[in-house]
This record gives sequence, C-alpha cells and structure tokens, in this order.
Amino acid sequence: MMNHSFSLAAIAALTAAALSCNPSEESSLKKITPVDFSAVKIDDAFWSPRLMSHKETTLPVCIDQIENQTGRIRNFENAAARSGEHSGIYFDDSDVYKALEGMAYSLQNNPDPVLEAKCDEWIDKFAAAQMEDGYINTFYILTGLDKRWTDMDKHEMYCAGHMIEAGVAYYKVTGKRKLLDVCIRMADHMMSVFGPGKRHWVPGHEEIELALVKLYQTTGEKKYLDFAEWLIENRGHGYYEGRAWDPKYNQDDVPVSEMSEIAGHAVRAMYLYCGMADVAAYTGNKGYMEALDRLWDDVVLRNMYITGGIGQTSTNEGFSEDYDLPNLTAYCETCASVGMVLWNWRMNQFTGDSKYADIMEKALFNGALAGISLKGDHFFYVNPLECEGGMQRLAWFGCACCPSQICRFLPSVGNYVYGVSDEAVWINLYMGGTASFKAGGKKVTLSQKTGYPWTGDTEIKVGVKGDLRTQFRIRIPGWCKAYSLEVNGKLAGESVEKGYAVIDRRWKDGDVISLHLEMPAEMVAADPRVKADLGKRAIQRGPLVYCAEEIDNIDGYDSMKLTSDTVLEAIECSILGGITEINAYSGGSKITCIPYYAWDNRYPGKMKVWIDYEEK
Ligand SMILES: [Zn+2]
Repeated sequence: MMNHSFSLAAIAALTAAALSCNPSEESSLKKITPVDFSAVKIDDAFWSPRLMSHKETTLPVCIDQIENQTGRIRNFENAAARSGEHSGIYFDDSDVYKALEGMAYSLQNNPDPVLEAKCDEWIDKFAAAQMEDGYINTFYILTGLDKRWTDMDKHEMYCAGHMIEAGVAYYKVTGKRKLLDVCIRMADHMMSVFGPGKRHWVPGHEEIELALVKLYQTTGEKKYLDFAEWLIENRGHGYYEGRAWDPKYNQDDVPVSEMSEIAGHAVRAMYLYCGMADVAAYTGNKGYMEALDRLWDDVVLRNMYITGGIGQTSTNEGFSEDYDLPNLTAYCETCASVGMVLWNWRMNQFTGDSKYADIMEKALFNGALAGISLKGDHFFYVNPLECEGGMQRLAWFGCACCPSQICRFLPSVGNYVYGVSDEAVWINLYMGGTASFKAGGKKVTLSQKTGYPWTGDTEIKVGVKGDLRTQFRIRIPGWCKAYSLEVNGKLAGESVEKGYAVIDRRWKDGDVISLHLEMPAEMVAADPRVKADLGKRAIQRGPLVYCAEEIDNIDGYDSMKLTSDTVLEAIECSILGGITEINAYSGGSKITCIPYYAWDNRYPGKMKVWIDYEEK
C-alpha cells in the first residue's frame, strides 16, 4: 500500500512542465488529430438550441437529481465522515463524475461562476471522501472497506475511470487540479495493488482503460498508459474471480487481440474498444487494430440497427445472434450509441476512412440524440425502433448511466467536426460555427454555415494570414449519391479518397468552399437476413432516420403501408423545434414521418421505424 506522504511527493514531482506536455502530439500513431471542442464555437440552427437546453435544463436536472432527489452527494458526505449509510447502487458515484464532466465542458462553452462554484463544492466533497491510501469509492467506504477489491463486477475501476475523465476535463477547462490530484492518488493506489508481479484484475465494466490514457496524456506519466495496457492484456486468461456471467458478457472469453465477434454487454464492449484504440495509438499494437477491424465488421454489418443503435436484447444489455435485430424489443441503450460515436471517431483518426465517420454520424443523429427530450429534461435508457404505446422518456433512472452520459456528451459534440493531419484539414461533420486551429504550420480559422441536417448545403470560409498549402478533405457521406463542390464559385477539381473529396491547393484568406449534397428522402430495405424487417422499408433523408408516430397518423396507423409507387415529399415545418417532415403518398393514403430522434415529444403513442411494404 502506498502511504499518504509518498503519494503527495509523487504529485509534487509532477511539474508544471510535465503537465503542459502533450504526448498525443509527439508519439501518437493516429493519422488525424481531432480539433478539440474547446476550439470549435458552435452557431448552428440545429445544434445551438440543443446546447442551450443542455445548459439551461439538462444540467440543473442532473444536479437536482444528484443532490436532492437521490443520495449520490450524500454518499460522498457520509464517506468523508466515515459514517452513515450508502444509498442507491454500488456504481452511483459514476453518475456524479459524469455530470461533473458535462459541467466542465459546459463551462468551456459558457463560462459561469455559479456552475464553477458548484463543481468546486462537489470536488471538495470527493477529496474529503478519499482514503489516506488514495482509494475512493463511496459504496465500499460505507459498506465495508475489508471487501474492496474482492468483486471484479462491483465497478470500482469503472467509477475511478469516470472520475479521471471528469478530473482531466475540469483541469483542462479551469486549470484547477484538486480533482486531478484525487485521480492521481486513486490511480497510484490501484497500481500499488494491481500490476505486473502484483494481483491480476479484470475490470467487470471497462472504462478505466481509456481514462488512464487520458491521465497519461494530461500528466505525461507513461506508467498510466502501461497500466491501461496491462489491464487490457489481463482479459481472456481466466483471471476473473467470482464470475456471475458468461465470460463473453464482459469481453473476457479470449485475449483481446484474438477477438473477432462482438458479444456481451454493448456499452462495456464500446469502452473496451475505445481503450484498445487509445493504447494502440501510442504502442502501435497491431493486434489491437486488426481485432478492432474485425469487430467493426461484425458490429456494423451484422449487429447494428439503422439508427446506429447496438445491443439487441435486455437479457444482457447487449448482443444476441447475428442479424437478430428485433424492433419492438431492441435494447439500443443510449450509452451504447454514444459509445459507437466514441469508438468510430477513434477508428476514423487511425485510418482517415470516412466509413467510420458515417457510422459516427448515424449514431449521433439517431441513436444517441433520441436519448434526450427536445426540452432536455427527460431521457431514454432503451431506444427501440417500434413502440406499441405507453413508453416515454423518464426524468431519471435508478441506474442513471444514460442521463449522465448525455449530460457529458452533448456539450462536447464539437469534438467530432474537424481534424488535422500533417497533410490535410479534415471536415467530418457539417455543423455551423467557427473553429480555430493550427494546420500547415499556420493558424487557420474556418467559418462554417450549413443547413444540415435539413439541407445538404454547406459553405466553409477559410481565414488565414498569407497563404496556406494543405489539402482539405471534405467528407462525402456514405448516404449521399450525388454532390457538387466548388471553391470560390468554380468547380473544385477534387479527387475522392476513402469517402473524402480531396482539394489540394494554396488557400488564401477569404476562400470559400461550397458543398452541395443531394439529400432526397428514400425508402431503404434491411439486409434480407434480418427477419424482423422482411417485407418492410424505413425512410431516411440525409443522416436522419425517420419514424411514423401514431399522433401524426391516427387513421390507419396499424395498417399503414409503403409501396414501390410511394412518392416521398419532404416539407419544412415548425413542429418539434423545427423539422423537415416527410409525407409518403401511396395512392390515396398518406403517412407522415418525423425524425426518429424527435419521437415521444408530444404524446405517448405508438411509433415505428420499419413500415410494411408492398411491391406494386
Ligand atoms: Zn446507459
């Protein structure tokens, strides 16, 4: 065990110089470095209202739930006093950390002294709850420290991982390192118990791995990267003690480099894959990248819903059989869709292949965004593609991973828009606003205006002193069958590579890139091996998947049918915060569809994505 004075000394040794270094810039094998959301100011008709409702509504809702409606903060207070009861579930600490991470990102976007004071108040409580040896977990502090580190499925490292993500975020935004220091003490405590020559450990719910890489990036201390890799390498060797589930449930059936089929709990799988990609970025571990390639095919080609949602069944909150994609009972946890964004974002950074950004966009606009109401105060945990009525978003959940996930995910959405590599500026998502970053050795400011996701028209203005020699790689989404691209009103003369339109030229201040993506509404069929969708079609337009809600189709909801003669008409309308709805006309009948993310914002009725279809 590490004593208190030693860990303080270790912290003192972390000089400001070490903290300011960024290993990711020096040694990462990633091809693309994403432009951090802190450098992306979003000013967008679609996203700005969502970010405003996050700040005005979602954050206060989460804080109220954590402080008043549940005992999550009380648990930290009791842990600090080393007395009193633990309330809730053993991993409830993680929701507090995730909400804090969301608060930190919100402070980056909109400085707010009251919110910052709330963060500091919570952080003081975390620090007070931490044990002398660095351990922190309110469940075990309050229910029996003798039992800590005895049950691999009790999420101690999962909670620590979320604390580290929050600590890194808050340090980056405010420069305050009190929570970062708590994280360092906990990480050092874990490494005093586990590691080469010490005890084995297989975290039952992954998360710590990617968090340790963030701690490495922030502190420059390679031991955290090594520990992340060691934990990943522990999987698949029978080290899991006291298992209640099939080893596949938490990705422990084979060593990670041998994995080729996704199985088990969907969110755990996503976090593991992110951790593997993060570690491989520094170590160059080819086995990890080859496994991730195989797993990606298995997920995307055989086990993913049209919404980007994954995890078919509630039995294990995860995967069943290939092509088994029931709509009514689809699990599609909100956290798993966010996980798909996080993982595909990383895969895109490695490869510069837009197929990953396509899935990232799909999961973002559909599976993930459906997880929160338009007002920002209610949440879905499960996201089925069909509802027989009565299902609604809730204000909170006993297991509140999804609300706290959305809380930290939305304010950082700017992360997914731009990237930079040695030879190119990468544009992955269309989202209005400005972004400033370094490319081609110069400071570049891009101003983007777009009608996305309602229109495919985007204009990007380049701001730079002098001229800039670099490629622009502009993503042509996989759903888009025709597009045009101009620079200053003239055809851009681009080449196309891995789904990106590549323009290579000497850019001047004020150059304007104009992109037009054809975005017709379309009926799409599923892979014929998906039994649940046989004889059905779904409607898509651009990145959005549509659904039919009962409220718009009261007459004939149960008998509605698309046909090969159906004519689809897209109409801008003001309901649901302003959407483009799609009317499907077949003979004398009409079906009205709205974007899937917007369902259940009016009346708790029926809904379906896949609609019966008849060949005429
Ligand atoms: Zn969740």
